[in-house]
Amino acid sequence: MSLPHVGIAGAGLAGRLLAWRLLRRGVRVSLFDAGARDDRGSAGPTAAAMLSPTAELAAADAHIHELGMRSLGLWAHWLRALQAQTGIDVYFRREGTLVVAHAPDRGALAHYTGLLRAHLPPHEVAGSLRALDAAGIAQLEPLLEGRFADGVFLPQEGQLANDQLYAALACALDDGLRACAGVWHEHCPIDSLQGRALLARDGARHEFDVAVDCRGVGARGDIDGLHGVRGEVLTVHAPWLSLRRPVRLIHPRYALYVAPRPGGRFIVGATELDSEDDGPITLRSSLELGSALYSLHPEFGEARVVRLAAALRPALPDRAPIAALDGGGTWRVNGLFRHGYLIAPAVVAAAERGIADSLGLPRALDEELAHAA
Ligand SMILES: Cc1cc2nc3c(=O)[nH]c(=O)nc-3n(C[C@H](O)[C@H](O)[C@H](O)COP(=O)(O)OP(=O)(O)OC[C@H]3O[C@@H](n4cnc5c(N)ncnc54)[C@H](O)[C@@H]3O)c2cc1C
Repeated sequence: MSLPHVGIAGAGLAGRLLAWRLLRRGVRVSLFDAGARDDRGSAGPTAAAMLSPTAELAAADAHIHELGMRSLGLWAHWLRALQAQTGIDVYFRREGTLVVAHAPDRGALAHYTGLLRAHLPPHEVAGSLRALDAAGIAQLEPLLEGRFADGVFLPQEGQLANDQLYAALACALDDGLRACAGVWHEHCPIDSLQGRALLARDGARHEFDVAVDCRGVGARGDIDGLHGVRGEVLTVHAPWLSLRRPVRLIHPRYALYVAPRPGGRFIVGATELDSEDDGPITLRSSLELGSALYSLHPEFGEARVVRLAAALRPALPDRAPIAALDGGGTWRVNGLFRHGYLIAPAVVAAAERGIADSLGLPRALDEELAHAA
């Protein structure tokens, strides 16, 4: 009996994760991407990949928080499974997030904390948020000793290294595709999806048992209201400085975060501009990010800039994700906006379950999906 065949347009965060999950369910998968597997121009490889279910409540609703909390559990299982399959240990930490503000911005910090308190489910407030004084800040992050008098600790939060995740998924996909005679079509833009068919720019029509659109902002025009929100980040190398966890700086002009990565690197981000311009980072944005980083600690002044990057986050008007079959019979997984890493496992698990049901596959009993229920 031949295996059911699923065609996925877009091999970014959502497309890679979904392809990997379906391959584990014994489905044959083929992937199509406009770029090469190691291109870094889309949102997935540009992101800071912070997993911030509490901090995001300042800009997102309770649904995103809930998807994020579920996804944190799923990431732990999925990354363990990925490591067992590929030998690649993706950097994943749950050491919380530290939020600080300079003395003149104390009011902005109080406002921010008030927003989080107001949006957190009441029974989660105590475990999700802890006010800190200067000593508490120094105890968590010795680098910041003496620099800030007030802060807030968000202990539930985490982060992962997206470059390692992309590499691990590519490795697992290569194995899985080889085993099922699936193909990863690089440099193969898909112009549209019609029912169970993918229409490639080169004129080819590829038919599948199920077709899934994971093109991020590349699906503009096919999903009502889908648009790009520009984000810019700076990566610096400063191996003599150390942070254990992401630090957010509350500032009335710009919201800065610094996410530490293995090897002495720090991702500094991110702007959020209502623009679909996907050109290189502007001088203004790099100055703002750089000066905010310098104000966190002047020793960052000697850090080496290793990357300046910009990409478009795929957003729907209600800022909520979709993982659903559309009226024409195509699956659409999109709208991950600024919290793709935070919520992707729960969103992808929902698509995985729906596609598996439509193909008549048995319900997965594995613990890797249990947290998504
Ligand atoms: C600056 C920045 C910082 C971010 N920080 C965070 C963070 O800290 N935490 C967090 O949770 N999220 C963060 N995000 C959001 C996260 O990166 C996105 O939500 C996520 O990457 C969206 O995943 P996606 O698979 O839908 O789209 P993408 O990751 O953009 O992938 C889309 C894929 O589709 C391909 N494609 C596009 N058009 C076509 C076409 N026509 N045919 C075939 N393939 C096509 C692209 O090449 C790409 O591979 C950030 C994003 C940005 C830009």
